[in-house]
Amino acid sequence: MKIVGAHISTSGGVENAPINAFQIGAKGFALFTKNQRQWVAKPFSAENISGFRDNLDKYGYSADFILPHDSYLINLGHPEKEGLDKSREAFLDEMQRCELLGLKLLNFHPGSHLNKIDPEKSLLRIAESINIALDKTRGVTAVIENTAGQGSNLGFEFEQLAFIIENIEDKSRVGICFDTCHGFVAGYDIKTSNGFDDTFGKFDEIIGLNYLKALHLNDAKKGLGSKVDRHESIGKGELGLDPFIRIMNSPLFDNMPLILETPDEEIWSEEIKLLYSLIRN
Ligand SMILES: [Zn+2]
Ligand SMILES: [Zn+2]
Repeated sequence: MKIVGAHISTSGGVENAPINAFQIGAKGFALFTKNQRQWVAKPFSAENISGFRDNLDKYGYSADFILPHDSYLINLGHPEKEGLDKSREAFLDEMQRCELLGLKLLNFHPGSHLNKIDPEKSLLRIAESINIALDKTRGVTAVIENTAGQGSNLGFEFEQLAFIIENIEDKSRVGICFDTCHGFVAGYDIKTSNGFDDTFGKFDEIIGLNYLKALHLNDAKKGLGSKVDRHESIGKGELGLDPFIRIMNSPLFDNMPLILETPDEEIWSEEIKLLYSLIRN
């Protein structure tokens, strides 16, 4: 079964996310459990938590298909102690917020070396940061997202993602979210049939498809290998519809959240319908 959704607004409270998801016909969804541009957030009230859980039931959502995303400020591979400590504390808080909501996944960008330390050192810090958070929480899987490779951001090559996973102690609670836009602009040519098969073949060889926990479905404004992270609506960018036809018809992507982060939220419900219409029986 294909579980297509989008990154939903939580305005008015986290408990509104399932309602907002239902209104656009999403079968799963992503959300920020706090303001993504601030370090500190108010703890959830009992009403937030029970309201969220009640609405999941009421609107028929399973925690298996909800993919919260952490704050953009967090850098788990930060080269400096102060930034690293702050990031680790905030990441733990994000994991704990997921625990409170009964969620099972937390999606995040691995981190950046900021041109101040070796990429490998930064990758090791990322793994250590994840280990610390996993050790202090239960039931939430750390889902690392492949990046576009813009600036000093790490995680744009499968080898880097595999290296992080190799250094995770509890491998049962780590996984990968593959973002189609990021993968393409990082140089993985999922636009062509051969390139698509080759990309996921490499994913399996280097990382292991057992670690694939989610996809972000985004078309790309910029070309193959451009390393520019600009999302486009489905079918309207450099990728076109072909890779999305392959995704919707491949069992590799069954029963995991497939989340739109496309720029025009007004058309998310149409994009969800479009994606389901691509399934050939
Ligand atoms: Zn993404
Ligand atoms: Zn992006």
